[in-house]
Amino acid sequence: MWEGGICIIETSVEKLNGIAHKLELHGYKWTKQRTMTLEVLLEKDSGYLTAEEIFMRIKSKYPQIGLSTVYRTLGLLNELHIVRKVTFNDKSTRFGLRDDDSDHLPPHLICKACGLIEKVNEDWLSELELHLRKEFGFQVFDYQLDFIGTYAECNENTCKKPNPSAP
Ligand SMILES: [Zn+2]
Repeated sequence: MWEGGICIIETSVEKLNGIAHKLELHGYKWTKQRTMTLEVLLEKDSGYLTAEEIFMRIKSKYPQIGLSTVYRTLGLLNELHIVRKVTFNDKSTRFGLRDDDSDHLPPHLICKACGLIEKVNEDWLSELELHLRKEFGFQVFDYQLDFIGTYAECNENTCKKPNPSAP
């Protein structure tokens, strides 16, 4: 379907509605600027973008937008765990939509060189949960865990990701 001049698939509309609900729960309004920012991040193959890149994409459809508004919006979405902020090897700060907004986020590997994100087998964490129960008497209900680093291939400049979003 078409919304705000951008073609987005049905699942994205559902996702957008879910995020709108989350913002409202935290007392934030569903504004045009916030919608446009999320639509850019929901576009297929957006990957991780800098605030400036997001701003330029919105500006082509909605010239009234200001860069400071985009920065503020991304800051809010990061605080609410809707987007993830990663600093890449080229020192650029990039933003990407978290691909799982359920309460239980699977742990990810995030490559700082190319932005590739892979899910980690959650079974590997059951041993850690066992240790926490035994040594701290702590029962884990939930966790948010990302490993940020680089793949060996990416350090040798033959990146794992076919089209790296960062040099
Ligand atoms: Zn990489």
